[in-house]
Amino acid sequence: AAKAERKGTIQRFRPDLDEAAREKAKLENDLREGLRRGELAVHYQPLIDLGTGEITAYEALLRWHHPERGLMYPDSFIPLAEEVGLIDVLGQFVLQQACREAAHWPDPVRVAINVSPLQFRNANLINIVVQALAAAGLPPDRLELEITEAVLMEKNAEVATQIRRIRALGVGISMDDFGTGYSSLSYLLSYPFTKIKIDRSFVMGLKDAPNSRVVVGAIVNLGRSLGLTVTAEGIEEAEDLDFLRQLGCEQGQGYLIGRAVPGETLFSQDRAWLPRLGYG
Ligand code: C2E
Ligand code: MG
Ligand code: MG
Ligand code: MG
Repeated sequence: AAKAERKGTIQRFRPDLDEAAREKAKLENDLREGLRRGELAVHYQPLIDLGTGEITAYEALLRWHHPERGLMYPDSFIPLAEEVGLIDVLGQFVLQQACREAAHWPDPVRVAINVSPLQFRNANLINIVVQALAAAGLPPDRLELEITEAVLMEKNAEVATQIRRIRALGVGISMDDFGTGYSSLSYLLSYPFTKIKIDRSFVMGLKDAPNSRVVVGAIVNLGRSLGLTVTAEGIEEAEDLDFLRQLGCEQGQGYLIGRAVPGETLFSQDRAWLPRLGYG
């Protein structure tokens, strides 16, 4: 009765809050059901070698075919999954699914998978990775895990240990959204990264932003000096791609090259973009 009364009070004074809470509870329930019913899917966006135009990797990006809301993007449900403790099972689903699909791709092509900060708190993550690779028959050096700076900001020794152990398997470790956090440079020295992904905020509109070109050029040189692969995210315009090539940026990703698509359709338009982007 007390609960009903409290609820009534909330409804009287903050109908918006109550509405939001109900909405969230429904979404959480939908997500649990959706996982069971196979509504979650992994799409793949190409990363190319900017020198040759060849595909070097595909990034796995989670999608949810919601029965009422239609296609949903990760920003609209990953934070909820993190909040309600569903991220581990969601993350495991992506790892297993993406490794399984990537095992059928031509040999040098890797798969890049985003890992949530919270997954690193689970000491079992390394076993989940090892198991996903083994079940798929995918060599560890064909997998890259993408970590945003938010993961590292926790200054958690356990997180650092896990990243090192996973790197020691031969799995690549990429710093995602590079340059957007507070301590990108110190993280670079503290963790065994193999790749930097320059955040798209530095990449978009390079042609009209001389200062961005200086910053991107400096990151490219920094990465090269440290022996890291550098990937530019968010390439939407041909002029930006040209600038990145001139700057010597090794890899690129963005709508200009290709959007994320379901695994079945990969390689069907293989190399279709080469002439469009001015390669060979
Ligand atoms: P991210 O890892 O930085 O991935 C790149 C995002 O930028 C993707 O959005 C991609 O579709 C989008 N993008 C790619 N090229 C362009 C471009 O040229 N222009 C613009 N404007 N956007 C571009 P998406 O798929 O909506 O994913 C958003 C974020 O959600 C990802 O950012 C990643 O942090 C997270 N995410 C995606 N899949 C997973 C997952 O399986 N697990 C976890 N934990 N996070 C995921
Ligand atoms: Mg990413
Ligand atoms: Mg990114
Ligand atoms: Mg991002």
